[in-house]
Amino acid sequence: MLLAASVAFAMSQSTFFHIEKVADEVYAVIRNEPPGLAVDCNVLLIVNEQDVVMVDANIGPESATATLNALAEITDKPVSAIIATHYHDDHMGGVATVRQRFPKVELIAHKSANEAIVNLLKPAREGMIAVAPQMTGWLKGLIAAGKSAEGTPITDEQRVSYESDIRIADRYAVEMKDIPLPFPTKSVDSKMVLKRGKRTIEILHLGEGHTPADLVVWLPQEKVVASGDLVVWPVPLVGDNQSNVPAWSKTLAEVEKLGFKTLVPGHGPVMRDTKYLSQLRSFYSEVTTTVHEQMNAKVSLDEMIKTLKFEDQKKAFCGDSTVRPFLFENYARVPSIGSAFRLH
Ligand SMILES: [Zn+2]
Repeated sequence: MLLAASVAFAMSQSTFFHIEKVADEVYAVIRNEPPGLAVDCNVLLIVNEQDVVMVDANIGPESATATLNALAEITDKPVSAIIATHYHDDHMGGVATVRQRFPKVELIAHKSANEAIVNLLKPAREGMIAVAPQMTGWLKGLIAAGKSAEGTPITDEQRVSYESDIRIADRYAVEMKDIPLPFPTKSVDSKMVLKRGKRTIEILHLGEGHTPADLVVWLPQEKVVASGDLVVWPVPLVGDNQSNVPAWSKTLAEVEKLGFKTLVPGHGPVMRDTKYLSQLRSFYSEVTTTVHEQMNAKVSLDEMIKTLKFEDQKKAFCGDSTVRPFLFENYARVPSIGSAFRLH
């Protein structure tokens, strides 16, 4: 049995993801792409006595298909539900593909997701499809010129990251054109519990952070939590007008209180301790305190974006990487200041 399982795993290893068994019949599909501007999401596959519950559904048809093919090597039980940790397309772009293969599948999301799909996901998807050629053209130009986004000579780390961005964004623009929006069939306010034989699956809204619709999926017996983009490695992923930086630390404290043994983040490797959570909490707390102090001193948002560098935080997240500083600047520092400023 064990041998059969490991053979199946070997077959399902793809360049773009690998599968980690995180508990009995619980599998994390972890992305292998390097950190970059364009990312696909991790997926959690919870195999029960009769069915499979899936957390998130990848960025689009091709990668959702690869995940479903890997699942088919593990079990032939049908996917009965997808739980959406939030409404962004790097997590929901593959929903239509799962629905095609399993027409009865439920899509469970936070109650605020329906509106966000119309007001935020739809324009974001259309916008991304429209700008993808420019974005990938720019990145291809940088590679051809041997330059980084910052204008310095390109490093191997940067080239590999840009190539991955190009592949993800080009494919997205082609694949997502006629894909229906992922409207949920069931919504969660603060908590929903799914019982599947011996398995208990808790779907929890523990507070805001990445979006107002953040859900975490908690398996209390296995002590496994899927956090969605409340936890993103190697640098935080913050959306200026959708994230809630002042609330984020407290929400992460609630995640910590679950007492998990294993955390599957929205992006990044499986975590087995709270070290990275503490680092994120320290970042969101420091940004919030600093921005609110400066607001009390009547400093403008523009001025703060110019002057607040959060150098120690930057060092902690970026280390010696040549890719992460650009991500930290655009996905963490600037939007976090914006969010803390907006939510005073
Ligand atoms: Zn994401």
